[in-house]
Amino acid sequence: MTPSAQSTPRPLAEIASYHAHVYYDPKTSRAAAERLRMLIGERFPVRLGNWHDVKVGPHDQAMYQVAFATDVFAALVPWLMLNHGGLSILIHPNTTNPRRDHLVDPLWIGTPLAVHGDKLPEHDEAEEPLAPNTTPHLPA
Ligand code: ZN
Repeated sequence: MTPSAQSTPRPLAEIASYHAHVYYDPKTSRAAAERLRMLIGERFPVRLGNWHDVKVGPHDQAMYQVAFATDVFAALVPWLMLNHGGLSILIHPNTTNPRRDHLVDPLWIGTPLAVHGDKLPEHDEAEEPLAPNTTPHLPA
């Protein structure tokens, strides 16, 4: 292999923030999604997004978004592994390539679902962390 065939590793600095998308079925698992949302808000400084009871954007099921800064990842993501309650959660970095962030580079907690990457741009501004709208007061 020639040196030119090896690509330079992408630096962590590409990641401006993260999203977790919590999926649910409005008929069968909205209560579980509501409970998880409450538990997250009590424990983590994140931005809880709007409820989307119908499919929106690239997402194949009802969901809400949890936006968080890179320094929250190490506590929130393992906590979600333990507490997702059977819900599917997509966690993706926010870089300048939303399509790649969602399709190629994410991780899933629970059962992976379809993501419609054709609805995402291949270049955009990387989303800086959004101001938290939670008031965490319990240990994770
Ligand atoms: Zn997202």
